[in-house]
Amino acid sequence: MSTIANIFKNKSKKPVISFEIFPPKRDELLKNIDATLAVLADMHPDFISVTFGAGGSVTNSATVEIASKIKKLGIESVAHLTCLNYSKAEILTMIRNLEANGIENILALRGDRNPNVPPKHDFAHACDLIKFVRENSSLSISAACYPEGHPEAESRVSDIRHLKEKVDAGATHLISQLFFDNDIFYRFQENVKIAGIDLPVDAGIMPVVNKAQIERMITLCGASLPVKFQKILTRYENDKVALFDAGMAYAVNQIIDLIASGVDGIHIYTMNNPRIADKLTSAIKNLF
Ligand code: FAD
Repeated sequence: MSTIANIFKNKSKKPVISFEIFPPKRDELLKNIDATLAVLADMHPDFISVTFGAGGSVTNSATVEIASKIKKLGIESVAHLTCLNYSKAEILTMIRNLEANGIENILALRGDRNPNVPPKHDFAHACDLIKFVRENSSLSISAACYPEGHPEAESRVSDIRHLKEKVDAGATHLISQLFFDNDIFYRFQENVKIAGIDLPVDAGIMPVVNKAQIERMITLCGASLPVKFQKILTRYENDKVALFDAGMAYAVNQIIDLIASGVDGIHIYTMNNPRIADKLTSAIKNLF
């Protein structure tokens, strides 16, 4: 179909809208993914990305299977690929598996450190993976970026320098970590441009719809919570229905402001919940 960079080039009116899903952990749930995919595809996103590596899996077969199903529904897909815990030979096998299944786009990641899985030392950073993929295939490569800086980064400046290395190595599109304060994203966009990075940047939006999710997310990615967002949590954290509505409304407001400010793309972390994707896309369908 098309590379992600071409989708951005060819779309007459911004933003590009994309969803992210993850492979369900158990095999029987994997079978149920078809229904979720059919509903998501009906919303006609520009692409859907599929995560990789949850639960310490050692192959990318579930990711590839789902990314391939997405393409069969007429939607472009992006398969995530992490490298920290894999050898070059293993990554090469995964690249060939992607190609054999007709996948054209990957999101090349280092992956999080897992204290129970020792790294293999063939790849230290995502830029090493990007170089390796570039040298060994014609897959189109996206990379991750962090508006508030990656939690392990020495500073935001060093993080953006390392982002530039990923771009120089061959990434052609960036997807941001989730954030709740658009001003942080706008500052990041400026800094990225100052660093000489001229690629489409997707704003990662995760609607907060339950308390456990908020706690998990803050521990994992360290996104800062603006006061107006904290007020919502304090007021509604024990009221499931109200928190869902308030979380969706907050995400819609974020997206409207991003579109009005000319963002390249909106990447919605759907958490495999078509209701979330549907509510958000319906709320913004007349805005672009
Ligand atoms: P890198 O770009 O390698 O950066 C990691 C750290 O190293 C940063 O602090 C950076 O500043 C520093 N660094 C980078 N290059 C260098 C260098 N050359 N020298 C010194 N320091 C350097 N994880 C999964 O396991 N599966 C997924 O599917 C997945 N999907 C994701 C999707 C998105 C949109 C995002 C934002 C993250 C995703 N993650 C996923 C999480 C990701 O794997 C972690 O955030 C991981 O800790 C960093 O990955 P990276 O590719 O950004 O790493």
